[in-house]
Amino acid sequence: MSLTPEAALEQAALASIHRFAISTPFAVGKVNCYLIEDEPLTLVDTGPNSGKALDEIGAMLGARGHAIEDLELIVVTHQHIDHLGLVEILVEHSGAEVAALGAAAQRLADFDEDAERQDAFAVEVMLRNGIPEDVTTALRTVSRGFRGWGSQVTVTRPLADGEALELGNRRLEVLHRPGHSPSDTLFWDAERRILIAGDHLIAHISSNPLISLPLDGAHQRTHALVTYIDSLARTRELPAEIVLPGHGEPIADHVELIDARFAAHDRRKEKIFTLIAERLQTGYELAQALWGNVAVTQAFLTLSEVIGHADLLVNEGRIREVDDGDVVRYEAVPTPPASTPGQPA
Ligand SMILES: [Zn+2]
Repeated sequence: MSLTPEAALEQAALASIHRFAISTPFAVGKVNCYLIEDEPLTLVDTGPNSGKALDEIGAMLGARGHAIEDLELIVVTHQHIDHLGLVEILVEHSGAEVAALGAAAQRLADFDEDAERQDAFAVEVMLRNGIPEDVTTALRTVSRGFRGWGSQVTVTRPLADGEALELGNRRLEVLHRPGHSPSDTLFWDAERRILIAGDHLIAHISSNPLISLPLDGAHQRTHALVTYIDSLARTRELPAEIVLPGHGEPIADHVELIDARFAAHDRRKEKIFTLIAERLQTGYELAQALWGNVAVTQAFLTLSEVIGHADLLVNEGRIREVDDGDVVRYEAVPTPPASTPGQPA
């Protein structure tokens, strides 16, 4: 029997890990931050850069007998603004150290510049995949509007995949498991079998493997879904009892959930293959066939989904990209005719 979400939160609390569900202005709803009452006093993720989120953090810390000034370490699970927008303000108040994946430190430090570069790149990817220019312009405006909820982050404690973050009473193994974002970092307490997972695995929604620029600054897109499925397969092997996600309820049966995600991605991949087998088409046309108008209002998100599954099909040798210099389209690779009896195989 796996734990109920309530029992999982209770067990986490017995391990001195307390969930703070913090408001965000985003469609995803609240974001989970986790207070670890240990030496140093540690907060994993912070919520977005807003007065409301700051008030909530302050109140929740207060309810546990702490103040913002008492924070000694802030840990960042990944580069998305709903998770890190308040880091700098909390550091100003507390002087806390900031731990995050070292490979992401430069991008986190150059927040504005990086966001601008990422948005320009997203426009490029959308145009290459057949999304009309007016849609990309509208999305870019929306993205700029959201940027105020983010903030630059100065990482003082860069982390590397495989190293341990030692607190007084626990050892957290740092696991770089990219896919949802290039910087997704998990924190694994092998002794207690608790995994702090950020947005790598979420119970009530499938994490979006968003197309992004890679961490190393190269001007090329990530193969986010291919990478994500790889990362999930590694997480599946962990003997976790509780997974604490960046949104929603704790997960007590991660293997079952990951298998369900694999099956869903497989179904979507086959559906996309069927559409491509019917005719040559762009990622945008595929997104419209799958999601209708959502492919317009959520153009980058849905395009990321399509491209991710198309990447899987390209890797399987079942489809290929056809580039006319402006736009990329997908076509099915013809299967060789089956050999008939009497003919050489
Ligand atoms: Zn995220």
